[in-house]
Amino acid sequence: MSRFRMYPTPAQQSALLQQCGHARYVWNLALEQWSMWTRDKRPTPRYVEQARQLTEARAAFDWLRAGSQTVQQQALRDFDEAVRYFLAGSHRRPTWRKAGLHEGFRIVGAQASRIVKLSRKWAAVNVSKVGWVRFRLSRAVPEAKSYRITRDGVGRWHLAFAVIPPPIPAPGTGEVVGVDRGVTVSAALSTGELLSCPGLSVTEQVRLKHLQRRLSRCRRGSSRRRRVKAAIAKLYARAGDRRKDWVEKTSTDLARRFDVIRVEDLRIAQMTKRPRPKPDPERPGRHLPNRRRAKAGLNRGILANGWGDLVTRLEHKAAGRVEKVNPAYTSQTCNVCGHCTPDNRKSQAVFRCAACGHQANADVNAAVNIAAGRAVSARRETPVQVSLKREPQLTTST
Ligand SMILES: [Zn+2]
Repeated sequence: MSRFRMYPTPAQQSALLQQCGHARYVWNLALEQWSMWTRDKRPTPRYVEQARQLTEARAAFDWLRAGSQTVQQQALRDFDEAVRYFLAGSHRRPTWRKAGLHEGFRIVGAQASRIVKLSRKWAAVNVSKVGWVRFRLSRAVPEAKSYRITRDGVGRWHLAFAVIPPPIPAPGTGEVVGVDRGVTVSAALSTGELLSCPGLSVTEQVRLKHLQRRLSRCRRGSSRRRRVKAAIAKLYARAGDRRKDWVEKTSTDLARRFDVIRVEDLRIAQMTKRPRPKPDPERPGRHLPNRRRAKAGLNRGILANGWGDLVTRLEHKAAGRVEKVNPAYTSQTCNVCGHCTPDNRKSQAVFRCAACGHQANADVNAAVNIAAGRAVSARRETPVQVSLKREPQLTTST
């Protein structure tokens, strides 16, 4: 993604917001149609049928016709793609688009190339039904077939081109690195480096807590509530900006320094899924605690650290050099003697081998195991016996 900051005039802002509203309306309508499907019904209409319905709706409603057809059709295409990804199992179920939260639309095709350079620092993009909108040339505009215009929670407008960056050439040193991703330490490298993704500072976190408490006391629809909400959104946006920046810098650095980058093959979607409810055997209809809140806190940590983003970016920048390793027992196995037991893990941070006494940072120990591509399929309490001659079992990324 190559992002530029857009500076629309107030009149353009409201025109852009209207387009966002149309795209959201069409998406939500498609989602509603799709989710009403039941076993006894005929297949739900897919893109072609929905596009025909959109043409009818545009003929019937003036307000919908006032918007750009390209934007509305693209929302349907995006939804169709989301459904396909969901059915293929790679993405989660498409969700409702909410005003204020999901403000954006996509332009694909010939319209996406209507861009002119105004000066050394400024350019403008011609958005249909909106006109020429200026954006800051913070870098060269890439060759792309589509772009997306979004408004974030703080009210900043962005223009993003979907481009995969050119791969970074391997250094050719033959060096392999293992990356262990965690919540307290964002990434531990097998070289012993501990990298942490900057989030909010302690003062910012205190302020966030304070604001959240204040929000809960505000009356719904009051202007004070709106102000507090905007302040919270600003903090979140700041954390998000820092995370994105960290992901870009870290992935570039790793791609430049190492020939092969091994990461855990974590099903992030699986990990961030809601824990299953535990029925109470003694009181039918009731449930036992399933540590859902605790998991929710962990989920926030995982997502805030941008695990998925880092691996996606690595796969772009170090194409074909990222290998995914089965993460089972990497945190419990000694990287010196291979002894594998939960007792090895003394605490969140410390690893001490019960068999050979090897001591290390727990995340670094795990990263070394990942770098070795150690096949850790052994049962707990059993030392892992891996022949040094045996090839590690890997699933190479595409
Ligand atoms: Zn050991």
